[in-house]
Amino acid sequence: MTRGEIHARMPRLMLALIAVIPALALGEIVYVDDSVPVGGTAEAGKSDFTGQFPATQGPIRAEGLGVILPHEHIFTDLRGPTAAGYGQANEADVVRVMRPLLVEARQRGVGLLFECSGLGVGRNVAIIAKVSREAGLPVVVPTGVYGRDGFAPPEHQRMTEDQLTQLFVKELREGIEGTGIRAGFIKIATGSAPLTALEEKFLRAAGRAASQTGAAIASHTPVSANASRQVAILESIDPAIRFIWVHAQSENNRTMQRQLATKEVYIEFDNLGWNPGQDGTIIAAIQELLTAGYGDRILLSHDAGWYQPGQPNGGSQKGYIYLIDTFIGKLKAAGVEEAAIRMITETNPIRAFGFRSAP
Ligand SMILES: [Zn+2]
Repeated sequence: MTRGEIHARMPRLMLALIAVIPALALGEIVYVDDSVPVGGTAEAGKSDFTGQFPATQGPIRAEGLGVILPHEHIFTDLRGPTAAGYGQANEADVVRVMRPLLVEARQRGVGLLFECSGLGVGRNVAIIAKVSREAGLPVVVPTGVYGRDGFAPPEHQRMTEDQLTQLFVKELREGIEGTGIRAGFIKIATGSAPLTALEEKFLRAAGRAASQTGAAIASHTPVSANASRQVAILESIDPAIRFIWVHAQSENNRTMQRQLATKEVYIEFDNLGWNPGQDGTIIAAIQELLTAGYGDRILLSHDAGWYQPGQPNGGSQKGYIYLIDTFIGKLKAAGVEEAAIRMITETNPIRAFGFRSAP
């Protein structure tokens, strides 16, 4: 029986309840033994959510973390890979600007944050690790190339699918650029036009690396047609790959969000706090998914933060607390139950991104 068939036969509510059980009370951060390797494809089933995350300070146990933010930024450079000083900044300055925002999130009950700036948008894991350590908030960083609109560094554009796969696997298993910090997921991107050959090369390499390591893939994908195409390609590589549709709120046709949820895609609404006038629309989409039995597919985040090198004080930053301070209250007022909110904000990110420990 395939996983899809199991899902079809099992009442969705029951799956949702099973998902809520491991969401333990918020406790101490538990760093686990770094020598335990993470699992490969056989363990990477779409509904797995036990195990660990390779955070920048070391692996942490994927349970009892409280609210997890699946899509944020601490340090991002959108000037393009050939800009002078690309991806670099004064570390102390980044800590001074960003630490308070992470501390504020931690104090509200955030236990883990996924930093979504991959190769091509100025990834700097040493700086992110420093901010994470200073703030006492675990952060997970990605491998993968942001392949759209000329963001991809020339060296990665030139690499073959095999070479890219090897790079992603190395960053997931051994660490990034000699830092010893392991990537915890694979971040890629598409534009609104049909997938380019370059975007597809990065996608296929991401799929092969995901299959080998059990890592999830998160893709900046503004239109559902591209999400569908990406999912079809990944299914042809390995049906067990977990795929997170980043910026799903950009698609106005909510039928497509449900349709992709039936394929076990994670539907991420990640612009919370940018335009509170849209909250009602997002809440309606969440309620439709819950009613249809796909609450276990929903992810919520802010896409906030953004220290941008090259700008005074790194530009103007946005905090990570709108979900907890405002949006959850709106969900409750709209009738969404506490258990569903905990599933969405605490358990679903573990299910989406969690690695299983090797036996
Ligand atoms: Zn983002």
